Amino acid sequence: MSVLVTGGAGYIGSHTCVELINAGIDIVIVDNFYNCKKSSIDRIRALVDRDFKYYECDIRDREGMDRIFKAEKIDSVIHFAGLKAVGESVEKPLEYFDNNVNGTLVLLDVMRNNGCKKIVFSSSATVYGMNNISPLTEDMAVGGVTNPYGRTKYMIECILQDLYASDNSWSICLLRYFNPIGAHKSGTMGEDPNGIPNNLMPFITQVAIGKRDHLNVFGDDYDTHDGTGVRDYIHVVDLALGHVKAVQKVEKDNGCFIYNLGTGIGYSVLDVVKAFEKASGVTIPYEIQARRAGDIATCYSDPSKALAELNWKAERGLEEMCEDSWRWQSQNPNGYPD
Ligand code: NAD
Ligand code: UDP
Repeated sequence: MSVLVTGGAGYIGSHTCVELINAGIDIVIVDNFYNCKKSSIDRIRALVDRDFKYYECDIRDREGMDRIFKAEKIDSVIHFAGLKAVGESVEKPLEYFDNNVNGTLVLLDVMRNNGCKKIVFSSSATVYGMNNISPLTEDMAVGGVTNPYGRTKYMIECILQDLYASDNSWSICLLRYFNPIGAHKSGTMGEDPNGIPNNLMPFITQVAIGKRDHLNVFGDDYDTHDGTGVRDYIHVVDLALGHVKAVQKVEKDNGCFIYNLGTGIGYSVLDVVKAFEKASGVTIPYEIQARRAGDIATCYSDPSKALAELNWKAERGLEEMCEDSWRWQSQNPNGYPD
């Protein structure tokens, strides 16, 4: 089996590429390197025992994508490529809709023209919106999203469901990720955000390494066990292994499948801070700030459908997520080399 991985040089994509090859699956990477360094490709290579090709190409480049499909034998696609910063999406909605939605439309059209109708898509728990009560299940109403990034995920889910309804020879898997953190055990691959991190764990690790002097905790007056926001943090390697199962599913069965990829456990911001301090031995100074616009109190998954249908479940706990995030950050204080 040969899988085209769009965005395969990014955070989740790179970890998934390693696990695909470990599972005996051939890969071809397409990335425009907009949000990652080329050295992440070298880091993937160093961890696997088989070579693979990568193409520098934007998924919106129809001719370029068509050439890749003609040059390679692609059985299925895992589609990570996209822009993902919530705040930036509010400032630049046109860029987000163009990159994420238009990019996906071009990809799907090129796939169809080349007879490839199997795709696994990176969706997000954000599609559950503000009003559903955790634990979140796949059959809950989706779409109450509050920002352009979330809307792109919701729109792409709708596009893929409509596509399947129109032609049931497609095989589609929508994976709704909860909060990926952690890094590869080797300490050679991890999350490398540009500028000031938006997400909790990279912010914590940058405080720990001395790049930032304290963490801002957004709100301590939520209805949670300590007042800070509760999320379902999942180790990126568990998430990667979920993609191996999902791509095997689309290889085998036609349909449009939806799965949560989470642990089913919610931890607060302060739980994560404490677990990180224990794992790293470094104290994380923090200040309580006002709530961040658009945040909800609690968001965690019911992951039982993925267990029942994909035989997948997250195995790595919060301690391991913190240890691995810290190993990556401390071995690579400035992220990937240029
Ligand atoms: P990432 O930015 O590290 O990886 C995305 C990759 O896609 C990058 O390497 C980027 O250069 C590439 N890319 C972007 N636009 C492209 C285009 N037009 N053509 C070709 N390549 C392009 O992000 P990630 O954290 O690995 O996320 C992967 C996917 O998972 C994204 O679609 C994201 O929205 C989704 N997701 C991420 C999270 C999270 O917390 N990290 C949560 C839910 C969903
Ligand atoms: N958070 C925080 N400080 C930060 C970043 C995040 O307190 O610098 C909180 C945020 O309010 C939420 C949780 O950490 O309760 C996870 O936020 P993140 O941005 O990592 O993921 P989200 O769930 O928003 O996608």
